[in-house]
Amino acid sequence: MKTNLLDLDAAAMAQFFGGIDEKPFRSRQVLHWLHQVGETDFSQMTDLSKALRERLSAHAMVEIPRCVSTSESPDGTRKWLLAVGEENAIETVFIPEASRGTLCISSQAGCALECAFCATGKQGFNRNLTTAEIIGQLWWAVRTLSAQPQNARLGESEHPKPVSNVVMMGMGEPLANFSNVVRAMRIMLDDHAYGLSRRRVTLSTAGIVPAIDRLREECPVALAVSLHAPTDELRDQLVPINRKYPLRELLAACQRYVDASLGEEISGAKWQRKGAPRDFVTFEYIMLDGVNDSTQHARDLIALTRDVPCKFNLIPFNSFAGSGFARSPEARVRAFQERLINAGLVATVRKTRGERIDGACGQLAGRVRDRRTRRPVQAIRTKHGAAGERT
Ligand code: SAH
Repeated sequence: MKTNLLDLDAAAMAQFFGGIDEKPFRSRQVLHWLHQVGETDFSQMTDLSKALRERLSAHAMVEIPRCVSTSESPDGTRKWLLAVGEENAIETVFIPEASRGTLCISSQAGCALECAFCATGKQGFNRNLTTAEIIGQLWWAVRTLSAQPQNARLGESEHPKPVSNVVMMGMGEPLANFSNVVRAMRIMLDDHAYGLSRRRVTLSTAGIVPAIDRLREECPVALAVSLHAPTDELRDQLVPINRKYPLRELLAACQRYVDASLGEEISGAKWQRKGAPRDFVTFEYIMLDGVNDSTQHARDLIALTRDVPCKFNLIPFNSFAGSGFARSPEARVRAFQERLINAGLVATVRKTRGERIDGACGQLAGRVRDRRTRRPVQAIRTKHGAAGERT
C-alpha cells in the first residue's frame, strides 16, 4: 500500500526515505513542497532527481480531504465541510481578525465524550481522524485562502500568513486521538512546513488528565481546558469525563503543565525555557442560563482556580435544536466576568463568530455515522437549518 505523505511529520518522513534507500534530508525538501508550496504532484518537485520522483510515485501518494461545501458568514467566518471517507464529513472553520487569522481544526469524526451542551457530542462518534486528515484541513485552508487574495475580508488580517493561529477546537476531543494530533501539530510547528510558533497552536481539551501530562512531555503547545463548572457535582453532569478525572486531578494537571514553562536546568544552562510555551492555562467556561452562571458559581470558580495561573474565556452558549439549554443573558455574562476580574483574574468573553453558518463553538456537526448506535448518516439540525448538509 502506498504511504500518504501527509501522514508524516519530519521524523516519520525521514524514516520513510530511509526505507526506500534515500537520504533522510529528502524529508525537508518534500515537507517544503507539500506544505509550503502546496505541490502534491511529485513530477513537479523539480529539485528532486527524476529517479527519486519516480520512486515516490511508486511508493507514495498525497491524499487530501475533499471539500464538499463552503459557507461564509457575513462576519467573514468561513466553514468548510470536508469529506473523510465514505461515511463521514468534518468541519473546519476560519475566523479572520484584524491581527490574525485563526483556523479551528477537527480531530475526530464525531466525539465520544457526550458533553451535555455540544452538538458534536449529540451526533455520536465514528473514528479518530488520521494525521493526513488533520493536517489536510490546514493544507486546504492555506491553499484556498492564498488562492483568493482579492477577497476583501482577508484584507482584514494584516498578518503575512493567511492562517497565523490554529486552535484544536473543532469536532472531537484532540487528546483522545493523541498520536495523530501530536504528529499533525509537529507538522504545524515545523519550519519546513507551516512554521507556527507553539504559542499560536492551542489545544483544547475536556480534561483527559494523563494525556495532558503526555502532551507537556511530547508536544507542549498552548493549553485550553473546557472547565464549564466549579464543582464536581455540576461538572459530572455537563462534562461526563469529569466522573473519570475529577476537578482536583484536572487542576493539578493544569498546574504541572504551567510549571513546565517556568524553565529548568537543561545541559547546564539555567532558566532555559522548556515545556509549555505559555505560563498560564486558558479555562473555557460556557455560559448556560440558570445552570452555571450565578454569583455563587463565580465565587466557587475563583476559589477553585486560586492556585493555577490561568485566564478565563467565557463562551456564551451557542444553541442548537434539542440542546435543552439557553444562553445566559448578556448582563449576567458581564456580571460574571466582572466578578472574576475583581478577584484579580483575567477574563474575556469570547466573541461569537460564524453563528449564521453554524460555525460557532459547539455547533460543528458535519456528517457522522455513529458507530455505537448504528444510527444512519445524519446531520444534526440546528436553529439555522441542517448543519453541514448544504452544498
Ligand atoms: N473536545 C475539546 C475541543 C472541542 S470544543 C474540548 O472539550 O475542549 C471547543 C470548545 O467549545 C469547548 O470549550 C467546548 O466545551 C465549547 N462548546 C461546546 N459546545 C458549545 C456550545 N454549544 N456553545 C458554546 N461553546 C461550546
